[in-house]
Amino acid sequence: MAKLGEDEASEAAAAAANSAVCPVDDDTAGVCAVCGDKFDKFFDSEREAWMYRGAVRHNGSIYHPACLDDAEKVDVRRTLHLYGL
Ligand SMILES: [Zn+2]
Repeated sequence: MAKLGEDEASEAAAAAANSAVCPVDDDTAGVCAVCGDKFDKFFDSEREAWMYRGAVRHNGSIYHPACLDDAEKVDVRRTLHLYGL
């Protein structure tokens, strides 16, 4: 497989962001810890659980992947990998 160019890498990151979900729980208010936007909830029929769409969990808070990237200066794709996404 060819090495990812910059365009392909950012497309992969965007796809990862779109598929990022994390379970709804009572610890978080359902808002991004960085920008404060509310996440959409949806019922994941495969997991049979309510999930936040486009959210990643990190240190007990939830973030947009891009916001977490800004906040932590980490590679968002590596972060997603940590969460098995
Ligand atoms: Zn955010």
